[in-house]
Amino acid sequence: MTLPFIDLGAQQARLRPALDQAIARVLDGGQYVMGPEVGKLEKQLAAFCGARHALGCANGTDSLQLALMALGVKQGDAVFVPTFTFAATAEVVALVGATPVLVDVRSDTFNMDSESLKRAIGAARDTGLNPACVIPVDLFGLPADYDELTAIARENRMSVISDSAQGFGASYNGRITGSIGDIATTSFFPAKPLGCYGDGGAVFTESDELAELIDSLRNHGKGTHRYLYDRVGINSRLDTLQAAILIEKLAVYADEIEKRQEVALRYTNALSNRFETPHIPDGLTSVWAQYTIKTRSREERDALQARATAAGIPTVVYYPLSLHRQKAYQDCPIDPAGLAVSDDLAERVVSLPMHAYLQAEDQERVIAAVIG
Ligand SMILES: *Cc1c(COP(=O)(O)O)cnc(C)c1O
Repeated sequence: MTLPFIDLGAQQARLRPALDQAIARVLDGGQYVMGPEVGKLEKQLAAFCGARHALGCANGTDSLQLALMALGVKQGDAVFVPTFTFAATAEVVALVGATPVLVDVRSDTFNMDSESLKRAIGAARDTGLNPACVIPVDLFGLPADYDELTAIARENRMSVISDSAQGFGASYNGRITGSIGDIATTSFFPAKPLGCYGDGGAVFTESDELAELIDSLRNHGKGTHRYLYDRVGINSRLDTLQAAILIEKLAVYADEIEKRQEVALRYTNALSNRFETPHIPDGLTSVWAQYTIKTRSREERDALQARATAAGIPTVVYYPLSLHRQKAYQDCPIDPAGLAVSDDLAERVVSLPMHAYLQAEDQERVIAAVIG
């Protein structure tokens, strides 16, 4: 029997009666876009992470675009993003007309490397770009190095957008992701740690002014009256149904984060002799969007994946090709020292089945297949 990579069914079995009732309430209420559940969820999301404002939107990609639009990022601006990430992080930069500048990551945490960021800022300046913004990504659920990265951003008068699509709810020296950065963003895509049953996303900020702008931008640039528009915006609202579903899922999310720690610990205890297992710096926790190990070589990874597949265990490589190797982004400016760590990781990383409801017996099967 093949194990699921992420078992959304186990969570649904736990929440089904509450979800059915929540969905029925939305159908009865009849306000399918920006209904009362959206505002309720926004308050709960803000409370969960300690942010002043949370604003729902259509998906995680839009949450990043709304953040860039609210900060006024435009043509001629350089926005620094890790090259080892999901494409959306760089995509939105290009969509607002700015230039994504690709930065290397640290081999131990998979997150943006501050030395590489410094070199990339210098290179961007040399080519006449205006360093405007840095977007650290909480890759695989682990918060980025915010203290160092924010200090560099401030020295260069740049804003910080935290792309926490994979990391919402993780902790960083006593703070919770979502409350970090000038603006933080997340995704509720079903496979993310906090996912809905379709597309969804949210934007977080401490600033009343930015929150007001984002609220306008997500709704066609609306002004204070209906059919009055103050700016060019987009259509990016969170459906009431998804908000109602997320309210039920958020209610168990803290418990699920705990369960994810137990699953990750079982993997690390069983695998750390044989592979490089994830490094969690002191003071940080991950929400384990992925549990990702490193083999010594591409060949060793190929053999591991073949063994796992034969045993009915799915494994996935996030990400087989960094952005600077992709057709769409190969012409972007990069750290002038190169992006060697990201290239190396692309050859050696492999992610194992990971979710809050992974049972010890099933995990034993994964571990046996991975060790071989
Ligand atoms: C998933 C993801 C996004 C985009 O989220 P969507 O909801 O799929 O649009 C952005 N950044 C990162 C790092 C992601 O993993």
